[in-house]
Amino acid sequence: MEIERIPVATLLSGAELAIWVHESRGELGPGPTVGVLAAIHGDEPTGTEICLELARRLRAGLPHRGRILILPVANPLAYEAVRRHTPLDDLNLNRLFPGDPDGWLSDRLARVITRHFLERIDAFVDLHSGGDSQTVDYVYLLNDERLSRSFGSRVLYRPREGFAGTRFEGTSATVTQARGIPTVTVELGGGRVDQRPYVERGVRGVLNLLRALGVVEGEPEPPGPQVVVHEIATIRPGQGGLLETEAPPLGEVVPGGAVLGRVVSPHTFEELEVIRSPFRRGVMILSHLTRDVVWPGDYGYMVGNLEGAEGA
Ligand SMILES: [Zn+2]
Repeated sequence: MEIERIPVATLLSGAELAIWVHESRGELGPGPTVGVLAAIHGDEPTGTEICLELARRLRAGLPHRGRILILPVANPLAYEAVRRHTPLDDLNLNRLFPGDPDGWLSDRLARVITRHFLERIDAFVDLHSGGDSQTVDYVYLLNDERLSRSFGSRVLYRPREGFAGTRFEGTSATVTQARGIPTVTVELGGGRVDQRPYVERGVRGVLNLLRALGVVEGEPEPPGPQVVVHEIATIRPGQGGLLETEAPPLGEVVPGGAVLGRVVSPHTFEELEVIRSPFRRGVMILSHLTRDVVWPGDYGYMVGNLEGAEGA
């Protein structure tokens, strides 16, 4: 495997901001160039671990066709600070694509990623996870349903009206979809729980994507029952406190009105809020898997609506 160091800018500290792209050239012959990217949000380090384990498999001699490009840390400054946004300009890198060479630092970083990564690939996998304290498990269904399904997650998400004109404008996936290349955005893992099961699932999922693309030999593992939801509710606590979860595990059905969690005051120990599922039949997509502190307006839960979903 080769590693290319791509400079972005010299920081005020004198340190140079750069990104590293790993490239594995397959010995089985020509084929597509697949890009795997992680940590575009700095508080989502699980994808970087998936990249590490994938690179180890490739270095150990996993045979493949074409080329596999891995960008394990797309936003190094946010990754260092364990923050969603770039600390120097407080911008969300994943809303700035295709980037601007004359813009803020995050705009410039987006431009470098576009030029040196997104414009070099024929298929794209973008690895996201929950933040510091939330765990998530679903895949966006963007422009290649078979490929998205092959990752193996139980829940897939495609809004009926599509993603155009939504808050998803300016993501890395908008660049690759405009180029007409298959794009899969994965949300997996995160939170204050052991990440190893999610990293293992992530590596298996990416290998299945590589099989579906014909880059790795063989058929993808059959994914098991899957559901495509068209509507997701993000449920945010209105009170700060300790959130105690009663929600079913991720991927499981949650009945109407079911209690997802309770916010308890860490000062008086009073129950401040009861958080309930908004749908008559829902499926758990994002949750707190352990007792966490939350603030008002924080990410509490995400539930998919199973009414009108495909495969429900
Ligand atoms: Zn993210």
